[in-house]
Amino acid sequence: MNYISTRGAAPVLGFGEAMMTGLARDGGLYVPQTVPVMPAGEIAALAGLPYEEVAFRVMRPFIGGFFGDDGFRGLIDSAYRSFAHAARAPLAELAPNHFLLELFHGPTLAFKDFAMQLIGQMMQAALAKTGERITIVGATSGDTGSAALEAFRGLANVEVFILFPQGRVSDVQRRQMTTVSETNCHALAVDGSFDDCQARLKDMFNDFAFRDGVRLAGVNSINWARVLAQVVYYFYAAVALGAPHRSVSFTVPTGNFGDIFAGYIAKRMGLPIDQLVIATNQNDILDRALRAGEYRTNGVKPSISPSMDIQVSSNFERALFDAYGRDGKAIAALMDEMKAGGFRISQGALETLRSTFASGRCSEEETMATIARVWTATGELLCPHSAVGVKVAEEHLATSPMITLATAHPAKFPDAVERATGLRPGLPPHLADLFDKPERMTPVPDDLAALQALVRERLARQVQG
Ligand SMILES: *Cc1c(COP(=O)(O)O)cnc(C)c1O
Repeated sequence: MNYISTRGAAPVLGFGEAMMTGLARDGGLYVPQTVPVMPAGEIAALAGLPYEEVAFRVMRPFIGGFFGDDGFRGLIDSAYRSFAHAARAPLAELAPNHFLLELFHGPTLAFKDFAMQLIGQMMQAALAKTGERITIVGATSGDTGSAALEAFRGLANVEVFILFPQGRVSDVQRRQMTTVSETNCHALAVDGSFDDCQARLKDMFNDFAFRDGVRLAGVNSINWARVLAQVVYYFYAAVALGAPHRSVSFTVPTGNFGDIFAGYIAKRMGLPIDQLVIATNQNDILDRALRAGEYRTNGVKPSISPSMDIQVSSNFERALFDAYGRDGKAIAALMDEMKAGGFRISQGALETLRSTFASGRCSEEETMATIARVWTATGELLCPHSAVGVKVAEEHLATSPMITLATAHPAKFPDAVERATGLRPGLPPHLADLFDKPERMTPVPDDLAALQALVRERLARQVQG
């Protein structure tokens, strides 16, 4: 399987290289050259299989020969061993025909663990083949950072730096990053928003001397391997509710568009998905773009669902690439316009996007009200992100079963949940001492040169130590 860049001017890579490279050298994102279709009979055969086996069958065609089959199965088994639920991604019924896919039973309590635990295993295996050292730099709106540190802490050949927006993540999210004690882990508190963190991360990748000098690798959802790992649970949930014999719909609380793009890939692979609904909080650029055809940022407003406080939605570029008939030059031109604040989506591309995605927005008040209402009606405690999804899903209920992705555990956002329900959700036992541990983080300015200097200095220190 080969991977090509959305901007059409970077080398074509195999799976392993695409995973280790992260951002393409032309600034684009890697996508599979062709999406393999899974015949209906093979989809039907997934019903009742363990999560790990579904993962193997869904991802295998994208991996090519990079890992042998037995090796790949072993990596998948190790990745999901630490999950607290035997089903890995259990479904709960919220209302007739409306289901919640609980993706928060991993070690850091957010869906990011599904991809990060696996990519941790896969990168380690790839590095073991070559004996290389790499430097991982990631930007986080809250959950990617802890998931990455959990997946890579203590590894001998990996140094991990996480940029998070200072003061804009929940206390639990921050502590999950700053209490990791392994010395290969570095939590950097950036004076800026998530969009600023992500922009500096892309700047580091676009500085080839730096990138090659520190052997930079990325684990944000610009990394194709992460998106791929998330395709699995769309199949797993859909077959549990009767696919491929009947269609299902999904609603996805969306920030950087990685999770919902995984759903789009599942649909391209042949999974009968009726509606694929983008749910945004008050940072509603994606909802506005689909309605008005204009993708334009108007500043991030901090919300009670901070992991979705994003205006520059990286993976939307992957959807645009297909909507523009895979014209890399056209995408490169749009992304240039984006530097000046936004662009108009062509009529043809807009129609393609609207035929694939529906969308909706949920205000802060609606988010709180949804947490309270669902708690009273069903006894299910929603995190604020999942609540955004549930509210938007309710506006899109139709004949096919609706599956809303629950992206984080309520205990990651206890303040918002307590305000909505009067109940303060407790952390699970493995995190019970989170507030007793010492924190370790480095405040940094939103400045490329300062960040690069810090990374270089820490790497030099590690080599000496
Ligand atoms: C990351 C995250 C999201 C947004 O996912 P994207 O893939 O960036 O669209 C939503 N909810 C939670 C809890 C998250 O951690």
